[in-house]
Amino acid sequence: MAMIKCPEPECNNMVSDQAATCPKCGRPVRRIGVDRLRFEYEKRQRGIQALQTKIARLSRERQDMYDLDDKMLKSDNYTADAMNRSISISDEIQGIEEEISTAEAEMKQIQQALDAAEC
Ligand SMILES: [Zn+2]
Repeated sequence: MAMIKCPEPECNNMVSDQAATCPKCGRPVRRIGVDRLRFEYEKRQRGIQALQTKIARLSRERQDMYDLDDKMLKSDNYTADAMNRSISISDEIQGIEEEISTAEAEMKQIQQALDAAEC
């Protein structure tokens, strides 16, 4: 159990997060579940943005590698290294894409819970 600030802006009373209403002003405080859900939703939203940035960076890196590769085709070692690196980048991107779809699925569930809580 935690003490939270009463959601009534002018009240400032500290209320148990288990309480249905603030004992001082009577305002319902059991919004905590909704706030928590919103927080979790936004956390995933930010997470997805960060992952998409990472994918963009990796894709650029891979593209740069292809460009360099074209110039350095004569060096067999370089090409093999670049190929290995580009395969590992592709694996990394795939892993990130899976993380994104997991987060998206969780967001969908949270949204449903929010819809149910807010009506
Ligand atoms: Zn209050």
